[in-house]
Amino acid sequence: MGKLDVQHLKKVFHDNSGDIVAVDDFDVEIEDGEFIVLVGPSGCGKSTTLRCIAGLETPTSGELVLDGEAVTDNKPKARNMAMVFQNYALYPHMTAEENMSFGLKMTTDLPKDEIRKRVHEAAEMMGIDDLLGKKPGDLSGGQQQRVALGRAIVREPEVFLMDEPLSNLDAKLRTTMRTELQKIQQKFDVTTIYVTHDQTEAMTMSDRIAVLNDGELQQIGTPLECYHQPENQFVAGFIGSPSMNFFDVELDTSGETPTLVHDAFSYELDDDVYADIENSGQQFTLGIRPEDIKAVPAGTHNALSPEVEVTEPLGDVTYVYLQIGGKQYTATLEGDIVIEPGRQLTVQFPQDRIHLFDGKTGETLR
Ligand code: ATP
Repeated sequence: MGKLDVQHLKKVFHDNSGDIVAVDDFDVEIEDGEFIVLVGPSGCGKSTTLRCIAGLETPTSGELVLDGEAVTDNKPKARNMAMVFQNYALYPHMTAEENMSFGLKMTTDLPKDEIRKRVHEAAEMMGIDDLLGKKPGDLSGGQQQRVALGRAIVREPEVFLMDEPLSNLDAKLRTTMRTELQKIQQKFDVTTIYVTHDQTEAMTMSDRIAVLNDGELQQIGTPLECYHQPENQFVAGFIGSPSMNFFDVELDTSGETPTLVHDAFSYELDDDVYADIENSGQQFTLGIRPEDIKAVPAGTHNALSPEVEVTEPLGDVTYVYLQIGGKQYTATLEGDIVIEPGRQLTVQFPQDRIHLFDGKTGETLR
């Protein structure tokens, strides 16, 4: 079992400039076998959260409860958790086999034969049995990371903690290792908390994503919940690549149809959209994902005709960078599209695809 309750976790660092609240009231129940990814911009508190769970940092306040038992004051070794680091943290003078056995030798009184059996089984499963005699210096990055993972697996922990474990690998190997890691996690069904910067890793690997900003949890949900129903503008902008486009707009109800007015365009609202914002003041942020912007014939209702700055054909889709009100926005259009820079493109934001946020708080209204 590996059900982990992280209760009101808080970590404050103190330095010359004062207090730094690295983690503020992180409160999440993680189910047995669940794969949770922590994402957020640099410095948002991902690693500190993970290190507090591992016992490598002492929380300022909060509790950690693993399968009903408080482990907050337990030493790292006594938590039944195994951590995998970005830089693998293998001992350079030991062979892969010795690296994988070391933790078990130090923390358990398992007989030698049993340790050897576990190490060889794990190595075979990860396709590294022929590397067991080699030292880290003779292994590639991907092989070292497999050994580091193997070392975590043989401990049979209740929780895996992984801090950007794939970020030192090249793009192709990262993709391979991503699927391998998922397979391993599913096979062992171990509760996993995984820190990454990488959108694709977060979206594809996790059961749930926890989005952090400035030490605070912004949203926790399945990848598609975070993508389709972001709770605020921060999550909307962070999840999805290329990022959602945002426009500062003001609501004008003086005419027949309620209209959002931007410096460069006006956008008439359907009744059901207006109903979602009519009691929320006048300042809003309109959000539209690049893939939701449509190219339409000139003269279409609610369309605008910005200048194209650059197009980037990727084969299946083309990123079109548009100049609207002096800022650059992105539209992702299907297929190969070539548009001369400087030409106009008529586009529309379909009413059922737009997001609306409170202009002051960033809270999602629609
Ligand atoms: P990154 O993605 O860049 O690794 P992160 O989201 O993992 O960032 P943390 O490393 O957890 O963020 O840092 C959160 C905040 O706490 C940052 O402002 C950081 O400067 C601060 N911090 C982290 N460790 C310490 C420390 N030992 N002493 C003082 N401040 C710290």
